[in-house]
Amino acid sequence: MEKKLIYADYAATSPVEERVLKEMLPYFTESFGNPSGVHRASRTAAKAVAEARRKIAAAIGADYSEIYFTSGGTEADNWAVNVAKGKEIVTTAIEHKAVLNSCKALEKSGTAVTYLPVDSDGFVTAGQVAAAIDSDTALVSVMQANNEIGTVMPIDEIAEVCRAKGVLFHTDAVQAIGNLPVNVSGIDMLSCSGHKIGAPKGVGFLYVRKGTPLESFIHGGNQEFGLRAGTENVPAIVGLGEAVKLACEGMKDNAEYVTRLRDKLIDGLLEIPDARLNGSREKRLCGNVNVSFADVESEAVLLMLDAAGICASGGSACTTGENEPSHVLTAIGVENEFINGTVRFTLSHKNTEDEVNYIIGQTTEIVQRLRKIRMANC
Ligand code: PLP
Repeated sequence: MEKKLIYADYAATSPVEERVLKEMLPYFTESFGNPSGVHRASRTAAKAVAEARRKIAAAIGADYSEIYFTSGGTEADNWAVNVAKGKEIVTTAIEHKAVLNSCKALEKSGTAVTYLPVDSDGFVTAGQVAAAIDSDTALVSVMQANNEIGTVMPIDEIAEVCRAKGVLFHTDAVQAIGNLPVNVSGIDMLSCSGHKIGAPKGVGFLYVRKGTPLESFIHGGNQEFGLRAGTENVPAIVGLGEAVKLACEGMKDNAEYVTRLRDKLIDGLLEIPDARLNGSREKRLCGNVNVSFADVESEAVLLMLDAAGICASGGSACTTGENEPSHVLTAIGVENEFINGTVRFTLSHKNTEDEVNYIIGQTTEIVQRLRKIRMANC
């Protein structure tokens, strides 16, 4: 008999919520019109897209006209960073690759980028940002929370510095939404992805404050206020609207519950000898547990966890498959003997205390077993 699956990889992706799916289903079959048309079928679809935009705007304190649907967090990040093309960008060494590689691409065409170092918990300070801004700086991009180690950045303070210096501020809130309060007050651009919060994969949005000099990123028809062309993915957008609403409404209760599970898991895993927690103990995402074990390889731990029915990841799902150690763990200075033995568990309100106990028990056994094998082969 197959073992029960314990999913502890919610920062990688999440299942579509029942209520979200229910909202989406009619737009695949009955209400399938193209929102750009004039007839009734089109008007029904256009109304659904408008309603989703309204729900999202209300949930994050934005105006209806400031929400642009995208194909996900990656596109939203690319678009935001592109606003500073040809000028100067200040960002951090631990942003998601969607920001970092967008910056790298822009560097090739003459954009200057400063990658701020972070401290051993993954923080940048508003002071660092202030010192890095000069008269050519057009954009600061600092994520609200890190996807690998869960560090929650001081974005309110950073936003204030940017406002005082007249520089645009973008934040990648992909991991924050549903886990932290997300509000666009003081922020010029904010990225969000649907599949982290119970909407389908391949949909997200970019919030852009009115007056921000945003250029069209994908050229074609007149969709998304003429700035992001392509027939709207109506069911996915409807799902995103409902998922953002639910995530923001349930955030406080869920975060309290998930924080308790997270702390139990951290305490349990740190009982294993030669284990270290990566990222801040206090200012971290409620579901994030990122632990490194000396003298084991994370691939082996992950395969054995998988065999025990536990889904976890080594770094971020997006960096798996790369052979280099994670840029985030490198940036916070994780020592060589630990860096290759890193496992990330990310929990949600769907996890239980029993599951956490099982994860602790299995991980403890697996790490011990792997260390014994290593010793025997020395
Ligand atoms: N930004 C962060 C912080 C993420 O964690 C991710 C996905 O892992 C993305 C951006 C990319 O989002 P998407 O998968 O929707 O393209």
